[in-house]
Amino acid sequence: MTNEKRFEAVLIATRLRQMLTKDPAHLSQDSYREDLDTLQDEDNLRIMIESVGGKLIQDEPEYDENGNIIKPARNYVVRTENGFIIYFKQEDGEHFPYLSILHELGHAFMHMRDKEAGYTMYCDGKDSTHDEAWVFARTLAMPRKFFEEIAIENFKDDKYHLKGIIETYKEDYFQIQTRGLELNIWK
Ligand SMILES: [Zn+2]
Repeated sequence: MTNEKRFEAVLIATRLRQMLTKDPAHLSQDSYREDLDTLQDEDNLRIMIESVGGKLIQDEPEYDENGNIIKPARNYVVRTENGFIIYFKQEDGEHFPYLSILHELGHAFMHMRDKEAGYTMYCDGKDSTHDEAWVFARTLAMPRKFFEEIAIENFKDDKYHLKGIIETYKEDYFQIQTRGLELNIWK
């Protein structure tokens, strides 16, 4: 990913954040934690997405008459006449996938603005547009100032303990590890 694209993603995420809540630079840790709670709550995140012209729908698998899955649920985003629809899959027993949903929001903002209604992006593949959408999602949910503070809270005996950070973010090890690398907090 080019630095320019990365910067663009950061700008859009920052702008969206200012639009939806407050400028993160002036935010206290307490109000940031409130924002994070908002993102991690399905109903609240749905409201945030609706406030920028989107819809949020949980994708369900399709079954045959014997109850076997013939089409699994997927993460994808569809351009509509006036906005976009984000479909997300919720695995049983897994955390609410708010970061995956923000990833789809990243596509809606960065990659679909000039597309026709009906244009669909599926997020099973791996290419640079998906990387950009992940940077967007992590930038929105884990702004530098607060991610650094939370990382420092979890720094003991000369190392970062990712378990505590994972619990705060209710996200996968991979996302937390990657965010720390992006921000040069660890190597
Ligand atoms: Zn994607």
